[in-house]
Formats: sequence, structure tokens, C-alpha cells
Amino acid sequence: MRFVSTRGSRDSLRFSEAVQKGVAFDHGLFVPEDFPSIEVRNARAWPDFGVPVLSPFLEGDPLENLLSDICERAFDFPLELKFLDPSTAVLELFHGPTAAFKDVGARFLSEVTNHLQKGTRKTVLVATSGDTGGAVASAFHRKPDTTVFVLFPKGKISPLQEKQLTCWGENVTAFSVRGDFDDCQRMVKEAFADLGFTQRNLLSANSINLGRLLPQMVYYAFASSRYFSERNRKPGFIIPSGNLGNAVAAFWTRRLGFPIREIILATNANHSVPDYFNTGSWKPHATIPTLANAMDVGNPSNMERLIHLFPDLRELKQVARAVSVRDPEISKAIVSSHQQWSQVWCPHTAAAAHVRQRLSADDWIIVATAHPAKFREIVEPLLGRGIQAPPVLMDLLSRPSHCVEIAPKLEALKAALE
Ligand SMILES: *Cc1c(COP(=O)(O)O)cnc(C)c1O
Repeated sequence: MRFVSTRGSRDSLRFSEAVQKGVAFDHGLFVPEDFPSIEVRNARAWPDFGVPVLSPFLEGDPLENLLSDICERAFDFPLELKFLDPSTAVLELFHGPTAAFKDVGARFLSEVTNHLQKGTRKTVLVATSGDTGGAVASAFHRKPDTTVFVLFPKGKISPLQEKQLTCWGENVTAFSVRGDFDDCQRMVKEAFADLGFTQRNLLSANSINLGRLLPQMVYYAFASSRYFSERNRKPGFIIPSGNLGNAVAAFWTRRLGFPIREIILATNANHSVPDYFNTGSWKPHATIPTLANAMDVGNPSNMERLIHLFPDLRELKQVARAVSVRDPEISKAIVSSHQQWSQVWCPHTAAAAHVRQRLSADDWIIVATAHPAKFREIVEPLLGRGIQAPPVLMDLLSRPSHCVEIAPKLEALKAALE
């Protein structure tokens, strides 16, 4: 299997090369050249789906024979599909080391890069709107020959999220940027285009990197298959969406032939994707801060992959919808989901729950992207009760934190690195 650019240049690369490059020569994003149809038999737990789903994508790659080892190390935590009522289930993706779905992609990427260019120094540079940085920092912490720099928007992430970025030390440094997520993302993009940086053997760990996106197909394959075998009907997924990395993996999984009926993108007040569905024109906007901060993205980078997959908007609309959910609706959904299903959800998951509550009784899987304890400042007052943090989070809270504050400029980042 080879991977091609969304922008159509002729270079096509194997998986390992695409992971190392991050972005294609023409600045497009890598996408699989084609989607084989995959059938998985005799798989029960979610990690069992790893090798059958991913092996076609690593065919002919130097890492092909290491795939099962990589999956075993990366997918070493639980993930649950819970049936809530006769037409609703929740896919809990927050049982990993940093309690957010990004653990799946970050851990896979770190295992992959561990096998690449052994012995040469690598620098991982990542911008985060909240959870990416923690997942990447945790996955790469103490990995040999690897230095990690995380950029986050100062004051725009939750205290627990900040702790998850700043508590590592050793090979991980966090930068608190005086700007928003789009500034952080822009600085990372500029660094990748800057010669001084490329000499450092830079690796991108944002969801533009294939090494984070592909493994996310594993849980969609697992959840859709499980739902289908339980109820004999194809589920639709409602996905809390920001940069669209999670959603693109779902669309890809559907292309592989897994039983996914349709996909709904639940965004927060950041409305560029729903606008595109309504008008057919793509107009990114400045980021709007919301309660679901990991989805505060006005210019989602993976939109390019979605448009590449569905160049014709009419075809996209046959399998997908996009809904913008505002803060008051998110707050209400946190309360009503607790009443309706006895579930305590983070604001991102609540956006998806809000969408579910307005749909008819088809089969729906709500994708739960983070543990609510990461957003206790928002969730606890709404429910009027405390939330028990999982042990991984409790452990982080007890560590000291350290970060370096910088201006939202590439020059400031350069200076800080020296
Ligand atoms: C990152 C994140 C999202 C958005 O995922 P994308 O892949 O960027 O669309 C949603 N919820 C949580 C909790 C996240 O951390």
C-alpha cells in the first residue's frame, strides 16, 4: 500500500516514510491510495482488530513484520462499548493513560517511530488544543533519542489538561503560548517549513500525521462490528469533532466495508464544518473558545482529507451530517444525559449526546472522547456532585509542573529552544 497527497502531486510513499515526512511535498496530507475491503473474523477484544485492520496499510513497509508487536504495545488499555438503551450505545475511548481518545493514536505513533531511524535523534513538535499534547507527551516520555516539545494556548485549556502537559520533564518540554490554538498550529507548521528546524529531524505528532489517524480505525472496526453482531443493525456514529482526525478515521473504516450506516460530526460553536455542509463553500474562521475546548478549531486541518475522500458534497451528505452545538446546549446535555442514561460525560461527549437526543430511534453510537474528570470545573457544578478521577489522573496531579511561556511567534519558539 502507498499513500498519496490530498493535493494530487505524484509522490507516493510507504507508511513509514509518510509518518516521518508528516506532510506531503506539495503540503497536502497523506491519504491511503485505496481502501481494500476487510473482513475480520474471530476478533473479540478491540486490540484483536489491530493487525487485521492495519496490515493491508503496512503491506510492503519495512515495519510490516513488527505490526503485531506495535499493536500489542500501543493498544494495551481497555476501551468499552456500552449499550445504553435499545437504540443507543456509547464508545468509551477514555480509559487510556491520559484519559482521552488521543492515547490510541499517540501510543501507536510512538511505537512506530521507536522502530524508525533507530539511533538518530528525533524531535517531536506538537500543537495542542488540550488533549493531544498530554497524550503525545505521555506516549513519548522516556522514549530513547526523542525530544518532545508541546505548544499549548496559555490559559485556554483546563487545569488538568495543563498538568498533563507540564508534569513530565526529562525529554518533554511544554511551551505556554500567548495566543490561541490556531497560533500554536501555525507555529508548528512554520517550524516544519523552516530549515533550522528541519535539520533537527522533526516529526509531527498532530493528527495530520498518518501514524495517529490509521490506528483510530481499529476502534471503529471493533465498535461497529460489535454493535452489528449484538443487534443485527448497522450503527451510525456521532463524533465530537474539532480537527476532524477522529472523524476521518471513521469515514476510512466505513470505506473498508465495516458496518457503519452513517456519521454525524458534532462540532461546538466552531461552525466551519457545518457551514460547509450547508453551503458547499469552505470558509475557515478564527477559533471560538467554548466549553468543549479540545474541539476549539476554526480551521480543521483534516477537512482536506474529508474533501479528498468526498470531492462531491452531495455524496458526502448521503453518509454524513454536521451539527454545531453551542455551549448552553452542551451544558444542558451534561445534565440530561445524566438523567436519561445515568452517564457522566465531558463537554465534548455531551455535544454528541445533544445530537443523539434530537434524533429518532435509529441505532446510534455516541463517541465518548475524554473522561469527565478532566473537565471537572465544568461538569461538577452542573451535576452538583463530585467526579471521581481515575487513578492515572490522580497520579499526575501529585507531580510538579514546569512550562516556558512564549510569544505566538516562530522566532520566540526558536529562541526558547536555544
Ligand atoms: C481532540 C479531541 C476532540 C476532537 O477530535 P478531532 O480529531 O480533533 O476532531 C474531541 N474531544 C476530545 C476530548 C478531544 O481531546
